[in-house]
Amino acid sequence: MSHVLRRSLTATQPVIVKGEGSYLIDKDGTRYLDACGGAAVSSLGHDNKAVRDAVAAQMATLSYAHTGLFTNEPAEELASYLIARAPKGTGQGRVMYLGSGSEAMEAALKLARQYHLENGQPDRVHLIARAPSYHGNTLGALAVGGHAGRRAPFAPMLINAHHIDAAYGYRLQRDGESEEDFALRMANQLEDRIQTLGPKTVAAFIAEPVVGASLGSQPAPKGYFKRIREICDQHGVLYIADEVMCGMGRTGSLFALEQEGIAADITTMAKGLGAGYMPIAAVMASQKVVKAIEDGTGRLWNGHTYMSHAVACAGALAVMNEIDSRDLLSRVRTLGERLEAGLRSALGQHAHVGDIRGRGLFWTAEVVKDRDTKQPFDVKENIAGAMHMTALAKGVITYPSQGCADGTHGDHVLLAPCFTSTEEEIDQIVAVLAETISEATAGK
Ligand code: PMP
Repeated sequence: MSHVLRRSLTATQPVIVKGEGSYLIDKDGTRYLDACGGAAVSSLGHDNKAVRDAVAAQMATLSYAHTGLFTNEPAEELASYLIARAPKGTGQGRVMYLGSGSEAMEAALKLARQYHLENGQPDRVHLIARAPSYHGNTLGALAVGGHAGRRAPFAPMLINAHHIDAAYGYRLQRDGESEEDFALRMANQLEDRIQTLGPKTVAAFIAEPVVGASLGSQPAPKGYFKRIREICDQHGVLYIADEVMCGMGRTGSLFALEQEGIAADITTMAKGLGAGYMPIAAVMASQKVVKAIEDGTGRLWNGHTYMSHAVACAGALAVMNEIDSRDLLSRVRTLGERLEAGLRSALGQHAHVGDIRGRGLFWTAEVVKDRDTKQPFDVKENIAGAMHMTALAKGVITYPSQGCADGTHGDHVLLAPCFTSTEEEIDQIVAVLAETISEATAGK
C-alpha cells in the first residue's frame, strides 16, 4: 500500500520511473506522451542534460547558505537575468525566491501591503481579483482565487477578498460587441469596484495575463490590460501579475505580460521557472515597489528558510539558458501555430466543442453539451474525468478540468506541450484529443 498522501487516496496510480524527451515512462515500461507538461511545468521535456549538469555542478560546490546572512551567485545571476528580461516599465526591480506558486502569491500579497505601509497608507487593505481564477492553495492565495469549489471548505478561514469577472470572451462577450468594447467593459468593473470599496482602501488587483488553471488558457481581449494599468495608476493600486502558469515562455514571450504592452508592479512566476527540474518560484518587485522599501524601512517583511536556494537557482538559470540558447521562444510560437491550426481543423466543428482558445503552446478546448446554447455538461457527468482517463489510456497526458456546478463555465482540456516537442508529437496530441473528446461525449 501507498504511504504517500496524494490527491486521491484510493486511486492506483502508475509509478513513473523515467523521463525521456516528451515522454514519462512507468515501472511497467508504458510510455506516456506529455501533452500538458504536468500543469504547464515541463517546458524542456523530461531529460534535459544541461539543466541536470548545472544542478549537479552547483550541488558539488554550494547547496545552501542562509539568505538572512548571505547571498549566492546563482541567485544574483538569475535575478539580474529576470530583471533585464522583464516587461518594459519594470525598471531596476528585485527578485525574491520561494518554493511554489502559492508561496509566491502569498509573498506578493504581503509585499503589496508592505509597499502601502512604507508609503504611509495603512488603510489600503482590500484585494481585488477575478472569478473564476486560481492563484494557489495556501490560505491567502486561496482567498484571492475565485475558484468556488476549492475555496468552499476553507471559506470561514479566508481573508476577505473581492472579485470582478474574468474576461472570459466565450461566455461574457455580447453579440455584436467588439473585442475592444468587451475589454473596456470588463476592465471598468475594476474601476467600479474600487469606487465602491473606497479608492484609498484598495491595496492590489490580481490577475493572470493569460489565465491558466481555472478557465484553461484564456488570453485577455485587446486593450484590457492597458485599461487595467490606467485604473491602477489612477488610484494608486498595485497590479500583481500572476505568471505562475503562463510565464517563462509558455505563451511565446518570456513574460506573458510583454504581449499586453504594460508592466506589473509585482510579478509571480513558478512552474516554467524550474521546468520541473527544481521546485522554485519567484516574486519580482518593480523599481517602484523596491524604492518604497529602500526609502522606508529598508527591510523585506517576509522570509523563508529556503529562499534563494543556490541549487534551485542554478537549475532555473540553466532552464533560462536553454530557452535562450536554443531559441525556444520562437519554437513555442511556430509549434503553437501548428497546435492551434490542428485543433481548429480537428475540433472547430465538433458538436461538443464550444470554444478553442489560447496562445503560444498553451491551448484549451472547452467541451459543452450543446454548442448552440453553450450549455455545459452537468458536473455529475464528470466529462473532464472521462477525458483524462480516455486520453491516458491512449498514452497521452492531458490536463482536463471540471466545469463549475453553477454552469458559469464548462469542462475543458488544457494542453501545454513541452517547448522541445516534435511536430509529429504535436500532431499526435491533436489526433488523440479529437478521439478522446468524441469518445468521452459519445451519446451524451
Ligand atoms: N497561480 C496559478 C496561476 C497557478 O496555476 C498555480 C498552480 N496551478 C498557482 C498559482 C499555485 O502554484 P503551486 O501549485 O506551485 O503552489
